[in-house]
Amino acid sequence: MAKRDYYEVLGVPKGASKDEIKKAYRKLAIKYHPDKNPGDKEAEEKFKEATEAYEVLADDKKRQAYDQFGFAGVEGMGGGSYQDYTNIFRDFEDIFGDFSGFFDSFFGGGRRRRSSYTRSSAQRGSDLRYDLEIPFLDAVFGTQVEISFTRNEACPACHGTGTESGSGRKICPTCGGSGQVRRSSGFFSIATTCPTCNGEGEIIENPCKVCGGTGLVRKKKKLKVKIPAGIENGKRISIPGQGDSGVNGGPPGDLYVYIHVLPHDYFERDGYDVYCAIPVSITQAALGSEILVPTLEGKRARVKIPPGTQTGKMLRLKNEGIPHLHNSHRRGDMYIKLIVQVPTKLSSRAKELLKELASVNGENHSPNPIKLSDLR
Ligand SMILES: [Zn+2]
Ligand SMILES: [Zn+2]
Repeated sequence: MAKRDYYEVLGVPKGASKDEIKKAYRKLAIKYHPDKNPGDKEAEEKFKEATEAYEVLADDKKRQAYDQFGFAGVEGMGGGSYQDYTNIFRDFEDIFGDFSGFFDSFFGGGRRRRSSYTRSSAQRGSDLRYDLEIPFLDAVFGTQVEISFTRNEACPACHGTGTESGSGRKICPTCGGSGQVRRSSGFFSIATTCPTCNGEGEIIENPCKVCGGTGLVRKKKKLKVKIPAGIENGKRISIPGQGDSGVNGGPPGDLYVYIHVLPHDYFERDGYDVYCAIPVSITQAALGSEILVPTLEGKRARVKIPPGTQTGKMLRLKNEGIPHLHNSHRRGDMYIKLIVQVPTKLSSRAKELLKELASVNGENHSPNPIKLSDLR
C-alpha cells in the first residue's frame, strides 16, 4: 500500500503548529482507538497510520527531515518503521495521561514495564535459541557437544518469589486491588491497566534486593547436547525445559539448538547421499584400473575403473553415504565423480611414448562437435 503524506494523514496544513498536530492526532486516535473498534482492521490501520504520522511530525528533528526529504528522510529514525515504541508511548502519556494499559494491549504488551513489582500470575519462561556450528563429519556420525549459554533462572535469594524474606504482597494502593484505573481526559473515559501493579492488583512490599523483585537472575548454564547422526544443516534440536525459568511457578521455556554444519573440503551432501571427486590419470582411465577412495569413516574403499572411462563418470558406492537420522543402520550412497587429469609436466620419455601413441592411433585434426546435450 502506498504511504500517504503525513500531513494528509493528520489532515493538517504543512505549516501546522505543534498544538494543531497534537489536536489532530488526538481526534484521530480517539476515533480509531483499537479498544473502540475491536476487530476492525481498517480502524487499526488508520490508528497506526495516524500514530506514525504523529510520531514524525511531533518531533522537530524528524519533521524537518520529513519536510526536506519525505519518507526517506525519516527512515531509520524510528519514524515510519515502528522501531522505537518508547518514544511514541512517552508522547501518548503526554497526550492522554497514563494510558499504558491500553497501549500494552494494542501492541501486544511489547512495553510491559519491568518495575520492581513482579506479576503474581504464573508466566512461562522464554524459549532460547543457540546457534551451534559442527564439523561435517560430526553431523554425519553424531556427537555430543557441551554448550554454554546465559539464561534467566529463579533468583536464589528469594527462590523466585521476588520478595525479601518475611515480607509478602499487599493490595495495590493505586487501584485498590482491582488492577484497573479509570482515566478521563475530557474526551472519553476508559478503564486501563493500573500502572503501579501492572494490573495484578497487588504489589510486593519489599522487593528482593538481589533480583530487584523480578524473581529472576541471569546465570551461565552448561549443557551437554547430543547431536544425532545424519542431522542436516539448518535443523534444530529442541531441549524442553532448558530455556528461561518461568515466573511465579510458570513452566520454563525450551532451548532450541540450531545446527550449522560446516562444509567439508572433499565431501558434499545431498539428502543422505554424499559426493566426492577423485582424479584419475589418462592411462588409468584408458586402460582401466583399481583405486582406493576415501570413505566417510576415514578408511579406503576399493573401486574399479572400467577401461575407457571418460572424465565426469560417476561411480556409486552403495551404503557409504550418510546414516539416516534416527535410523543409522540405513545409509545413503556415496557417488564418486572421476576426473581424468591430463598430465602437465612430461618427461622426455613420456613425451616420446605419447607421440608414439598419437602416431599409432592417428589424430583427428578436424573433429566434429559433440552434442551439448550428450554432456549431461
Ligand atoms: Zn530475588
Ligand atoms: Zn494497582
